[in-house]
Amino acid sequence: MDYDVIVAGGGLAGMIAAQSASYYSNQRLSILIVDRNQQLSVGKKTINGWVCGDAVSKEAVDFMEGRIKVSWNKPEIEHRVKGVIALSPDKETSIKFDGAGYMLNRKQLPQTQYEYSKKHGINFNFGINLTDLLYEDQQVIGVCGYDTKSRSIYKKTANVVIDATGVTSPLRNGIKNTDKMEKKINKNDIESTGRHIMYFDKGEKDLREFDSEYCLIHLDQDIAPGGYAWVFPKGENKVNIGLGVEKSFLEMRNKRLHKHDNLASLINQYVKRNKSIKNPRLSESPSDRSNATGTWQVSVRRQNDCMVSNGFIIIGDSAWMPKPLDAGGIGPAIIAGTIIGKNIVEAIESRDTTEKGLWRYNADFIKEYGYKTAGLEIFRRLLQTLTNEQISYGMKNFLGSSDIEAISNGKHPDFSVLQKINVIIKGVLNKRLINGLRFTAKQNKWLTDHYNNYPTVPDEFYEWKKQLHKKLDESYMTISKY
Ligand SMILES: Cc1cc2nc3c(=O)[nH]c(=O)nc-3n(C[C@H](O)[C@H](O)[C@H](O)COP(=O)(O)OP(=O)(O)OC[C@H]3O[C@@H](n4cnc5c(N)ncnc54)[C@H](O)[C@@H]3O)c2cc1C
Repeated sequence: MDYDVIVAGGGLAGMIAAQSASYYSNQRLSILIVDRNQQLSVGKKTINGWVCGDAVSKEAVDFMEGRIKVSWNKPEIEHRVKGVIALSPDKETSIKFDGAGYMLNRKQLPQTQYEYSKKHGINFNFGINLTDLLYEDQQVIGVCGYDTKSRSIYKKTANVVIDATGVTSPLRNGIKNTDKMEKKINKNDIESTGRHIMYFDKGEKDLREFDSEYCLIHLDQDIAPGGYAWVFPKGENKVNIGLGVEKSFLEMRNKRLHKHDNLASLINQYVKRNKSIKNPRLSESPSDRSNATGTWQVSVRRQNDCMVSNGFIIIGDSAWMPKPLDAGGIGPAIIAGTIIGKNIVEAIESRDTTEKGLWRYNADFIKEYGYKTAGLEIFRRLLQTLTNEQISYGMKNFLGSSDIEAISNGKHPDFSVLQKINVIIKGVLNKRLINGLRFTAKQNKWLTDHYNNYPTVPDEFYEWKKQLHKKLDESYMTISKY
């Protein structure tokens, strides 16, 4: 083998995974990161840049620092916030989710990660467009693709390949040695998202439109159908502003309002309507060059039901890790990246890099993070079906402090207020909403328990998956009737 470990994709998740494998092996493993970009643009997701909302919780970054001693500072941390505020469509309710967070510079971060990795003996190959995996019988033994510099076929071998090539991963899409890992995603589980990074002059003071200390989320089915819109501060007069939509909900919204909007037009209207942001202009600062505006996709479902096969393991957006409720993918990528190194070192040291030898990664990720994602997927599906009136009414009346705390911790709320509710609920739609919320809370409980019983060996996976999908199908069906 050329290397012990090859990491396909030098983005956020891939870099952390490599650093973690290096840390847990005391730099004994030989590790190669392969990316299609050149070094100065490593981590770039698309031609449009390092497209992201740039927000991450301090808790996730601390998790990485505490376990694998990798820390992030300035300049990759551009701004600090105290939490997130979600605003209802009628703007009457604003719910504060306290918890320190960082606004990152996603273009700078991979450079910092690159320098750190180099110092720790990690190797890099740039300008390689990976297309496929190499196999020996049923074992993945490397990667292949095209070297854009030498214009030749590229092949490298390793005991383990980590796929961190993002949501469109050609490696996961084409995987041939497993029937447990899902290759494709349902199109309804993808959000089209985009954002601008902008400087602006201060307009009207309205903390519901811009707050330099909080990330603002606007829930509104006219502005961001099937998703949400955001105003995330990057300073006193700098902002990451954008929104995400789900295609079928955008079509319904356009039909309802007799409009022909698309993602780009919705984003531009969203910027324009904000009275606190005057004279907005795309950032021309060198740290945002080639990254000031762009769109990309993000998944909003549970992680892949199985994230390993013989010699192969997936992470980050390639494994559909972003949180179904808010598409936050940096936190789970940090968590998975931090833990994956230990799983890989154990597999390599015990000379078992088969599906069985790597299996523990599935369970470890579920224990740290993945146990809650299927429940949140169901909750997200319900939220997408709600009208603006239902969202405003629900946010005002049905969220107790324990629900807000649960959402702050990335968990499904249990809506305990709904159990005690004795006021007269106005309107049929709100009664349906209550039933929907009670239903998702119930399904969430089952799903969380089920994930806490994730199989410890591959053989038990099929039965576990059968039960999971039965519950998911039943949930999708019930939600479609609300
Ligand atoms: C508009 C938008 C806003 C978002 N906002 C937030 C937010 O505020 N907070 C948050 O937590 N998450 C957010 N996310 C999600 C977050 O950006 C992703 O979860 C995160 O970037 C995932 O990192 P990754 O390393 O898995 O994948 P990526 O960042 O996509 O990195 C993939 C890497 O693989 C390389 N690569 C891809 N294909 C190949 C190939 N064939 N060969 C070689 N190399 C390849 C790419 O060049 C890149 O370097 C947002 C996403 C979008 C689109």
